Parts: sequence; structure tokens; C-alpha cells
Amino acid sequence: MRTPLVAGNWKMNKTSTETKIFMEQFVKLLKGQEKSEILICPPYTSLYIVNDFKHNTKIKLGAQDVHWEEEGAFTGKISCNMLIDSGCEYVIIGHSEQRTYFNETDETVNKKLKKALEKNLIPIVCVGETLEQRDANQHKEVVKNQIIQGFKDITDIKSTVIAYEPVWAIGTGRNATPEQAQEMQSFIREIIQQLYGKEIAEQIRILYGGSLKPENAKEIFSQPDIDGGLVGGASLKPESFYQIILAAE
Ligand code: PEP
Repeated sequence: MRTPLVAGNWKMNKTSTETKIFMEQFVKLLKGQEKSEILICPPYTSLYIVNDFKHNTKIKLGAQDVHWEEEGAFTGKISCNMLIDSGCEYVIIGHSEQRTYFNETDETVNKKLKKALEKNLIPIVCVGETLEQRDANQHKEVVKNQIIQGFKDITDIKSTVIAYEPVWAIGTGRNATPEQAQEMQSFIREIIQQLYGKEIAEQIRILYGGSLKPENAKEIFSQPDIDGGLVGGASLKPESFYQIILAAE
């Protein structure tokens, strides 16, 4: 039985003051009986605030990226140890915005994934095709390559999570249909089975991400290979994020 995970990726949104306001409202909505794991991945400057609010709740804390080096002269970067020290249990790796705007490649995904696993941070590895690749019917090949290269030389994936996020659905308001998402999620599970065996493939959580909203979440989450969601825009408002969490139960 896979516990659903609903993760909010705030991207470059919310100052520390705005984070406090969100958290005050959000914790009031929680009943403490939610069956899903709830994860918030705020900007680095708000990690400590979410961390302060998460005590005595089911909220977990994650970061949106990490560097693969232990420490040193890497201006602007953040290490696994720093994230763990700030209360993080999760880290997003290989988000399509990192791939598109900041030169993330399958090779850097691989380095970050290895480091996160070494440090026992739970990675959420993002994969997904562009619209051009889907239109050219290359979506399966692209995602398969991202997984094979991203997971290269990794024998123990521990509790790694994968997020299937079609690039054409991120921030566009256009979500994949439940059938499109399910087809890709079960394909990803098959690849994991080929790489790591049936037991791991059955355990690994595969999230869907791309324009999830309270209105579409239930139908998408009802698919057998969808174990929750990575939520961008709709995670910025306490009520809409909470509705999506409820849709995963
Ligand atoms: C994301 O940032 O991973 C994402 C899925 O964004 P949105 O929900 O806004 O499409």
C-alpha cells in the first residue's frame, strides 16, 4: 500500500511574511486525520518558517533543489547538510524549470540524486516531455531516457519518489487527461521494474504534476499508478492546496 504524497512546490513565490500568513491559515484547515503525506517546498528563505509551523502536524518540509557537492566555493548553491539542518526531509530534483532555464541535465540530476540518497534526503525526481516531443510521439522515449540517465549507477533508490510532469501541463492550466497521465505513470513503473525489480516498482511512489487543481485532482488521483501530486500554482492558496490533499484520500 503506497501512502499518497501531495507536495506543494512554491517555486519563487512568498516572502517570509507571506509564508507566515499562509501557514497560519493552512494549519487551521488540517484535521490531523489526513491520510496523505503533506509536503511543502517553499523558497530557501522560508524553510525555517514552515519548519516552525510543522511541529505537531503532518506537514513535511522539502526544498526545490540542492547541489551535489558537500560544501565549498559554489556561490548561490545549497547543500544537503544545509537542507537537513533546516528541517528538510525531501528535495525536488530535475524540475522542468531547472532543466529549461538553469541548464539542469540528466547528468546533474544523477549527481544530485546520488548525493541526496547518500544523505538520506528523500528525492522527488521530476521527468516529463515537452509538447513538441509529445506531438512527435517521443514522450515515452524521452521519459525513459531521463530515468535511465538520471538513475545511472544507482543501485539502491531507497524511498525515492518520481514525479511525472508533462512540461506542456506545468503552469499552463492544461492538465494531462487522467488516461494520458495513467499511461505514462504505469510506463514509468515498468521502467523501474526493469531497473530495480517488481518489489521496488510496487513500492515507489509516482506523482503526477501539471495544472492540478481542486476541480481535476480527484479524477487524476483515482488512477491506479498515481500516488499523489506535485502542485505548483494551486499550492499557493491554503484552501486550494488542502482540497487537493483531500482529493488524494
Ligand atoms: C510544478 O511546479 O511542478 C507544477 C506542476 O506547477 P503547476 O501545478 O502550476 O502546473
